[in-house]
Amino acid sequence: MKEKNNSQVRVLTQPEDIQKEEAMYKMMTPGPTMVAPSVLEARSRVFGNPDTDTDFCEEYHRVCRELAELLHTKNEVYILGGEGILALEAACASLTEQGDKVLVIDNGIFGKGFADFVKLYGGEPELYTVDGHQPVEVEPLRRFLEKHHDYKYATVVHCDTPSGVLNDISVICPLLKEYGILTVVDAVASMFGEEVRVDDWQIDIVCGGSQKALSAPPGLAFVSVSEAAVTAMEKRKTPIASFYCNLLTFQNYYRDKWFPYTMPISDIYGLAEAVRLVKEDTGRLDRHQTIAAAVRKTVEKAGLRRYLKEGDASTVTVIRVPEGLTDQAVIDTMREQYGILISGSFDVLAGKVLRLGHMGYNANIEDVAQMLGALTKTLEKLGFSCKCDMEEGFQKFAKIR
Ligand SMILES: *Cc1c(COP(=O)(O)O)cnc(C)c1O
Repeated sequence: MKEKNNSQVRVLTQPEDIQKEEAMYKMMTPGPTMVAPSVLEARSRVFGNPDTDTDFCEEYHRVCRELAELLHTKNEVYILGGEGILALEAACASLTEQGDKVLVIDNGIFGKGFADFVKLYGGEPELYTVDGHQPVEVEPLRRFLEKHHDYKYATVVHCDTPSGVLNDISVICPLLKEYGILTVVDAVASMFGEEVRVDDWQIDIVCGGSQKALSAPPGLAFVSVSEAAVTAMEKRKTPIASFYCNLLTFQNYYRDKWFPYTMPISDIYGLAEAVRLVKEDTGRLDRHQTIAAAVRKTVEKAGLRRYLKEGDASTVTVIRVPEGLTDQAVIDTMREQYGILISGSFDVLAGKVLRLGHMGYNANIEDVAQMLGALTKTLEKLGFSCKCDMEEGFQKFAKIR
């Protein structure tokens, strides 16, 4: 067993323990996020056999329809038993055949990462790599596509979380579709904190996950799949080289009341509650924008430098690690002394930036103010003097609209 370094494992035996239990720290990471107590409770509900219980199949179907509604699509939505990455891999596994050319739009770590999935399933990824400090520019992409458009599908990330950049998929996807290129979008870290309109924007497969702005615990992925994408899967000459990642296996689940594998029913109960909360929270997109704008202004006023030139998503703010400090010292001090967890980044951004999450359940003024207050004190302690108290600054900026 992995050893825990900051808390003892607690065993919960009574339902009331769940409410009494205190969080180890406030998780202000760009996923996973804190989750509402009612989501935790829903996951502890008594459950039946998801393979045979038709009530469960109805509930699964209802949650899928609600997700579809929130994503503005008439396409089928499936919840998959696995973390967000499963949605990305399943999209590539289901579409890719040996030798297929795939355009991988890359201005970030997740963007580039799609190439690995394409290769794994025998495809030939062609990277369209552009500056990662800003969103993909549409005009150069348009000019590129005029000359190169012989692709079965293209992949693009909406919010590339390691840098926080938000790409304009409302323009990019319709542009790709002009050339008959199917569109696969990783919207794991944006959806429900940013508008995602699957049908209007012509997204053939959109990928989402439970632990970002939907604010359920990690463990579930979901996809919406267009008719064009299904046709492409059905017209394959070779079978899909995976069972777990084969999106066609879900096709008739509702008619047949049959799932390709036993569904993680407790996770789906939690997800259902998280979806209900998101649906009820009609002001959430505006709130994400207000908070994100205020965080950006605040960190700059304090003398910190943002990673991006422009085009930040409303779900996360990425700042450079101040000179002389390390990301780990900031993260550890904040967690140990103030009980708030933020995150560093990985791959080429490892050690260079800090990521402040403000998505989903965490996108509220109190929690974000508290995070920024703790960050101010942490930086001061470590020898970086902020030009303002970020807690106060943020509260002021978040009020002016
Ligand atoms: C979180 C996230 C995923 C899911 O992957 P994990 O790194 O395993 O959490 C996929 N894409 C993006 C853009 C994400 O932010």
